Amino acid sequence: MLEQKTIEGKLFDFFKIKQSVPLEQVIRHYKLMGTIKPHKNIANRYEGTCPLCGTVKGKPFKVDLKNNRWNCFSCRCGGNVLDFVREKERTGIIGAATALCSWFSVDAETTREEIKLKKQTS
Ligand SMILES: [Zn+2]
Repeated sequence: MLEQKTIEGKLFDFFKIKQSVPLEQVIRHYKLMGTIKPHKNIANRYEGTCPLCGTVKGKPFKVDLKNNRWNCFSCRCGGNVLDFVREKERTGIIGAATALCSWFSVDAETTREEIKLKKQTS
């Protein structure tokens, strides 16, 4: 599976970004480890204050490090690393992809030819 989007002639391989960037690194990038804590009983789970809506009560913000996904029961947001940056930066998917690639040195830019080639081989 390969996802891409065009802007100014640039194409991003979203799948590669999602695979390359652990959600934990994004959480650390935003210095949120103080507001969320490891879940008592479930491994690789964190929960706490939602960095998007600010809700503290009930620890609505859940992070699943194993599946690299997050969600908030309060503002009903959730998704992958790209969705998180998109919400946090109030930007689009391309803005989120650009930010993640620059913060974590991910080379996820691709070309139409590469996409064609990958589609043929997969
Ligand atoms: Zn929220």
